[in-house]
Amino acid sequence: MAPQREWFETDYYKVLGVSPEATEREITRAYRKLAKQYHPDANPGSEERFKEISAAYDVLGDATKRKEYDDVRRLGPAAGGFGGFGQPGAGGFGGFRVEDLGDLFGGIFRPGGTKRRTYPGMQAERGADLEAELHLSFTEALEGVVTSVNVVSTVRCATCAGSGSRPGSTPVACPRCGGRGVLNDNQGLFSLSSPCPECGGRGTKVVDPCPTCQGSGMQRQQRRVKVRVPAGVDDGQRIKVKGRGEPGRNGGPAGDLFVIVKVAPHPLFGRRGKDLLLTVPVTFPEAALGATITVPSLERSVSLKVPAGSKSGKTFRVRGRGIALDGQHGDLLVTIEVAVPNKLSDAERKAVEALAAAANASPRAYLES
Ligand SMILES: [Zn+2]
Ligand SMILES: [Zn+2]
Repeated sequence: MAPQREWFETDYYKVLGVSPEATEREITRAYRKLAKQYHPDANPGSEERFKEISAAYDVLGDATKRKEYDDVRRLGPAAGGFGGFGQPGAGGFGGFRVEDLGDLFGGIFRPGGTKRRTYPGMQAERGADLEAELHLSFTEALEGVVTSVNVVSTVRCATCAGSGSRPGSTPVACPRCGGRGVLNDNQGLFSLSSPCPECGGRGTKVVDPCPTCQGSGMQRQQRRVKVRVPAGVDDGQRIKVKGRGEPGRNGGPAGDLFVIVKVAPHPLFGRRGKDLLLTVPVTFPEAALGATITVPSLERSVSLKVPAGSKSGKTFRVRGRGIALDGQHGDLLVTIEVAVPNKLSDAERKAVEALAAAANASPRAYLES
């Protein structure tokens, strides 16, 4: 049997996923497995792949043909005795392209994977996700609000509808790739193709650029996007607004917009999840003797009993006076701070001096032992 041109183009070992040193048995096993997997009856649309696999086994499964194939592959085209092969520009013969390889082997090594590879510029691309900051007051964050954010994004140029050409002029076929969008590199036996760098794979070139977008086909545009902020949102949280990111290309879906919430601090309250935090000053007598004090909460004031002997920094929990979220109420956490006056009236000074005289033990006595 005479060597076929196909023998130079196709690595049958790769087609079957075996090494060139594989035994007959290994080759047969690999073939059976793939044939079963890609049989058109079981897997419609896999005819081409099934033919490749069958062609590979037709040669490698026959010891004589396999030896001939190995020799031809090793010695190169000269052994085949036919001319014209591998000449640059032999476009009709460079039928074996990189994307076919990827497609073929991608399918073999990832069973069921039938994803086609396409070039940028032709491919449907999802738009990029965008981020925007939203500044809210403490109360807005607690109650929720419907508002809007400004988003600057890249959109298709309105003047040229994305073509990049001045209206009335038309782009020409790319001179580098002849409008094909891909370049073929003849490298010995293989013809490799890659996206054309001149036109980015589009196959066309703008000769008279659009005055609005300078030929890019895209424009920066500011738009307002409505955002529904749920009640109880916290500082730093991200709200996803689906489909409001950058528009997709070539029919791809738009990206998403992520709104990052910045909540202004409240003059009195802090927040930890559903709990509301408050620090209040108390006098030394209140802390020492105990007292009932009035403290604010979000809705109305509440009474808080400070027991006698409460230390500065102690925190008390007022149940159910925090933030209402998901049908639950958080608590109000009140931390007392013993206030020390920086100015004393005469009467106060006398009273404090009397207290000092009456105190019989130093609180630091334990440090002296
Ligand atoms: Zn080109
Ligand atoms: Zn334009």
